[in-house]
Amino acid sequence: MTGGIITVIEAVPGFLRDRTVRPACVDADPDDFFPEPESVAAAAAVRVLYCQGCAVYGKCLDWALSQPVDKLHGLWAGTNQGMRRRMRTQRAP
Ligand code: SF4
Repeated sequence: MTGGIITVIEAVPGFLRDRTVRPACVDADPDDFFPEPESVAAAAAVRVLYCQGCAVYGKCLDWALSQPVDKLHGLWAGTNQGMRRRMRTQRAP
């Protein structure tokens, strides 16, 4: 994949525009975050390698869960689409 993690999404999340914090994935290979398939194992690897210690983990996860599940691809905050779908269901009132 070319273009980097930020350019592959239409709207850059606010937490990625904040220059006062440095996401752990800022210099990562985008292929790590957009694998085919977006398996649970790939999500776990990203979570361990990058997201666990990321300064914006909570913001990233909240943003990912606020997006339409079927339109957001990638392993945001160490989650894949299926995981986000389940988390959204669990959060629903
Ligand atoms: S939580 Fe993970 S995907 Fe989100 S900004 Fe941090 S390292 Fe990147």
